[in-house]
Amino acid sequence: MSTHEHDNDATQAFLASLPELEPGQSFQFACHPQVPCFNACCSDLSLMLTPYDVLRLRARLGLSSRDFIARHVLVAQAPDTGFPMLRLRMLDDIPGSPCPFVTREGCSVYPGRPGACRTYPLGRATKTGPDGEVIEQFFVVQEPHCRGFEQDKSWTSADWLNDQDLQEYNSHNDRYMLLLAEARNRAARLDQKQANMVFLAAYNVDAFKDFLSNTGMLTRLDVTPERAGAVLADETERLTFAMDWLGLVLFGLERNLRKKV
Ligand code: SF4
Ligand code: SF4
Repeated sequence: MSTHEHDNDATQAFLASLPELEPGQSFQFACHPQVPCFNACCSDLSLMLTPYDVLRLRARLGLSSRDFIARHVLVAQAPDTGFPMLRLRMLDDIPGSPCPFVTREGCSVYPGRPGACRTYPLGRATKTGPDGEVIEQFFVVQEPHCRGFEQDKSWTSADWLNDQDLQEYNSHNDRYMLLLAEARNRAARLDQKQANMVFLAAYNVDAFKDFLSNTGMLTRLDVTPERAGAVLADETERLTFAMDWLGLVLFGLERNLRKKV
């Protein structure tokens, strides 16, 4: 299994089979152009993209959400929940099926690379605690071809998260994972209209902006004028709003958003 896969059920089960990296415990690793296997892992991947991955990659590439999806994404549906599942399209017409962003010098979208690329060689598994809090566990995923483990640099999971700028990725991704967990807990499978709504709000954020403007949706919700303005002006605010909105329209959750009374 590729360790660049997003933490879906299969990945969580795979991670649970590995020894846990306890808080404060360290692992030895470094990845840089002098490592003999440099770039070896940036090909032929099943690289799941979360909504925040898409937002950051698009920002890096300067592409609209429509163009990014058309050029770089393969879309499927999760068989259990019906949620859209997006994967980065590899260059299958080139031998080895490289990632479209890998170059001789390394990752050409490094500041916007997906969370899974940042997390490796760790795996992160999450579960929801009794008060809805996210409990995380880390594992070292030592793939046989990876020579980074021969390098003389030590990290704890906290060091690695900081170094890879992962906190923001994880906090956005966890919000999306809560929606998926909600669907699983209710054994709810989205119908096609609901799946389209998730795709629109979570991934096609330009079209979601048009939808919000054209339908007057924000005026029917209990949001301050400041939040409404920020949702239309700022993509990250819009994505955060999208998670709240999907929770409300799919499951009636009123965590951070409710209808006007
Ligand atoms: S996005 Fe960058 S780090 Fe991730 S697989 Fe592609 S080239 Fe490698
Ligand atoms: S295989 Fe390991 S060391 Fe080699 S490029 Fe990939 S992450 Fe870096």
